[in-house]
Amino acid sequence: TAKTTAEIRSDFLEFFRSKGHTVVPSSPLVPGNDPTLLFTNAGMVQFKDVFLGAEKRSYTRAVSSQRCVRAGGKHNDLDQVGYTARHHTFFEMLGNFSFGDYFKRDAIAYAWELLTGVWGLPKEKLLVTIYHTDDEAFGIWHEEIGLPADRIIRIGDNKGAPYASDNFWQMADTGPCGPCTEIFYDHGEHIAGGPPGSPDEDGDRYIEIWNNVFMQFDRQPDGSLLPLPAPCVDTGMGLERIAAVLQHVHSNYEIDLFQHLIRAAATITDTADLEHKSLRVIADHTRACSFLIVDGVLPSNEGRGYVLRRIVRRAIRHLWKLGALSAEGNFWRMVQPLIDVMGGAYPELIEKRELIERALKAEEAAFSQTLDAGMVRLDGYLVQNNGLIDGEQLFQLHDTYGCPPDLIADILREKGMDLPPGAMADYERWMEEQRERARAAGKFGGGVTLPAELIAQLQPTGFLGYDRLEDGGLEVVA
Ligand code: ATP
Ligand code: MG
Ligand code: MG
Ligand code: MG
Repeated sequence: TAKTTAEIRSDFLEFFRSKGHTVVPSSPLVPGNDPTLLFTNAGMVQFKDVFLGAEKRSYTRAVSSQRCVRAGGKHNDLDQVGYTARHHTFFEMLGNFSFGDYFKRDAIAYAWELLTGVWGLPKEKLLVTIYHTDDEAFGIWHEEIGLPADRIIRIGDNKGAPYASDNFWQMADTGPCGPCTEIFYDHGEHIAGGPPGSPDEDGDRYIEIWNNVFMQFDRQPDGSLLPLPAPCVDTGMGLERIAAVLQHVHSNYEIDLFQHLIRAAATITDTADLEHKSLRVIADHTRACSFLIVDGVLPSNEGRGYVLRRIVRRAIRHLWKLGALSAEGNFWRMVQPLIDVMGGAYPELIEKRELIERALKAEEAAFSQTLDAGMVRLDGYLVQNNGLIDGEQLFQLHDTYGCPPDLIADILREKGMDLPPGAMADYERWMEEQRERARAAGKFGGGVTLPAELIAQLQPTGFLGYDRLEDGGLEVVA
């Protein structure tokens, strides 16, 4: 029988421990060391200062399974969720790190040994990309590993398109970065999509499982590259993606962990079709929302809290779609199923269970009062404007019905429609005026209200406090 996701996580940590790596726990989703970053979006985030040479650790090799959220900032996959087999808002990134210790040769050899030796993946299903000028990486893959040249694809920079995929990895607009080599798994010709570098590379046939970054530079605000004190290695492999491969399924949503969540969502919403896209989105969003709350974020109208609010409301809208909106709330009922599958690796889910449930319940109670009417109003606008929504209407849907514009855009996308160009910019202008009025009146954006003993659980675990003050999280709960 196939390995469970939990076993795969342990395998990874154990493999690199046996190669002299120190096992380092996941850091929180709210980065403590980096005001430029909305959420922890990669395993390397907690090691940023070590790469930069500004911080020393007692080890030069580390391994972790890092919780990540990509729902804002440079890496934003919120709009992919429900549309690809491989993207989540929350996921776990398995990573091994070298701080001036080993470099390309060992990193590649370790990756290959784990994938094809320990896990026994068929070599002919794997292919790799390298940075277009990285002849050294080509040589290692070709001569030392023995990968045929036609399965080593050279990929260049993204030529100025900051969000396109490329083989030069950056955490954010500034900071540690470098060329990378990525390992892809071919899920088979029955799935649409071309190999990396081809015009239809965005399909889900060849799925990127593991990125090995050769950290060599510190990107400056003016765009220039300063060399790091020592060349480092930073790798990231999506736990859910490798679990799909090892469990012989195509989509991340078919792995054991997600199936448990999807079945729970199906029961809660009384949905027979386990393939229903809304179930996948609800399962995905359950993880992001629960872990963001664990890490000190609460739904609010600003900063991180607003990202959380938007994800919660997207999930609630899918409950509504499935006819499962209720005053007592349903989304919070997903917390126990999540604890079933992730509480072992993340005991903080169990410790903060009541906080998570109460915060989700409060948000659902608030939103369920207006969502229905908001959807009716949206339909009215669409009829009135021949299927177009303008900035003022986006503002009304948000202001009166609590429907953020990305939620509206997502609904339009399901109908095969787009927001007209300029609508978002107009909306922003309306919002700005609104904020000024609120500031003048001394009012803050409405957050969820929770009892004091639960608020106490939000107390900073070392470094959360500063960030939460900034994003308005404290005001709204006080
Ligand atoms: P993709 O091209 O598929 O969007 P990426 O190139 O953006 O992935 P990296 O930044 O290289 O991803 O992150 C390292 C690894 O983390 C990826 O190889 C993948 O296995 C995993 N990963 C990245 N984004 C996600 C996501 N949204 N959901 C699940 N796993 C992800
Ligand atoms: Mg991506
Ligand atoms: Mg990629
Ligand atoms: Mg990548």
